[in-house]
Amino acid sequence: MANILVTGGAGYIGSHTCLELLNAGYDVVVYDNLSNSAQESLNRVESLTGKKLTFIQGDIRDSVALDSVFAEHQIDAVIHFAGLKAVGESQQVPLTYFDNNIAGSIQLVQAMQRAQVFNLVFSSSATVYDEANVSPLNEDMPTGMPSNNYGYTKLIVEQLLQKLSLSDQRWSIALLRYFNPVGAHQSGQIGEDPQGIPNNLMPFVTQVAVGRREKLSIFGDDYDTVDGTGVRDYIHVVDLANAHLCALQNRLNHNGCRAWNIGTGKGKSVLQVKNTFEQVNGVKVAFEISPRREGDVATSFANNVRAIEELNWTPKYNLEDMLKDSWRWQQQNPNGYRD
Ligand code: NAD
Ligand code: UDP
Repeated sequence: MANILVTGGAGYIGSHTCLELLNAGYDVVVYDNLSNSAQESLNRVESLTGKKLTFIQGDIRDSVALDSVFAEHQIDAVIHFAGLKAVGESQQVPLTYFDNNIAGSIQLVQAMQRAQVFNLVFSSSATVYDEANVSPLNEDMPTGMPSNNYGYTKLIVEQLLQKLSLSDQRWSIALLRYFNPVGAHQSGQIGEDPQGIPNNLMPFVTQVAVGRREKLSIFGDDYDTVDGTGVRDYIHVVDLANAHLCALQNRLNHNGCRAWNIGTGKGKSVLQVKNTFEQVNGVKVAFEISPRREGDVATSFANNVRAIEELNWTPKYNLEDMLKDSWRWQQQNPNGYRD
């Protein structure tokens, strides 16, 4: 079975993907600098699967260390999660984001080229779409200029990978445009463990419910949506993890660079998420309505037909599942991996 290098594999989506890879029989080498994660996530992946992976602590900007990873392990393909993802922080320290996400990705593909490894799955984001597009968003719609530096790094890396694949037919690259990953593995053993105050809706909701934060601020209730609050396409992290396995399979038989949306195709509002969370978990989430957050769009959800048809992938989990699983992880690990 193939040997997969997973950059950023100790993180939220990476750890869930490592678990699915191991369960499917792949060998896994994780390369992560642990700047936003804990190695404990990988210990738990090993105990959940009963299988071992190789962990190497390192930075994707370190070309010497990357070369030795490829020299010491017979890598067949790379799944590239490593990067920084905090939208607000990316506005404060743009160079840090350009360096980690853009320069780091360039270092990685250079090392891949030196090692003659040409299969890559890249974590992109729905944020690359032009804001003028009307949902459901499909992959043929134009990309735009993301309103923040984090999104900008995703767009730039997508574009440079597209150009790279045009220059050399051996490259086979999947750009997975994630919508809003939430949820956790059903065991409640691994999940999202944000440092500091969460930027994203789901960890904020669970931290209010568990008593770590006083109340949720809902950013705007005057959008042109079902109830005035923002609408997004929430996707269970296990479904998202499995999309990477499907993309790996697809890339074994195809060359070039292609984008796929990874979402459920269903939009849910912030109030629907909060209310459903309360219903399925039997807990209250205190909230207030706050002003709109700068850079937010009213509605964003996927047309996921391309992924379903071409990757042979189907999302299995609904919003109730996502919210139950997020809550189970939060309850079992009120302080994330720092217990
Ligand atoms: P995460 O922060 O949990 O995981 C990222 C991992 O990369 C962490 O373990 C971190 O330590 C590691 N890392 C960061 N910089 C590194 C570097 N220079 N060298 C080596 N390792 C490094 O984030 P996540 O939510 O699992 O996201 C994974 C990927 O998916 C990221 O590229 C992110 O931008 C992208 N993405 C995430 C979302 C989301 O909402 N979570 C949405 C769209 C795209
Ligand atoms: N949101 C909110 N309060 C929060 C965090 C997010 O009301 O504390 C809203 C946000 O305005 C958006 C939705 O929840 O409509 C999802 O936001 P998130 O940051 O999770 O993901 P985004 O789609 O912005 O990447």
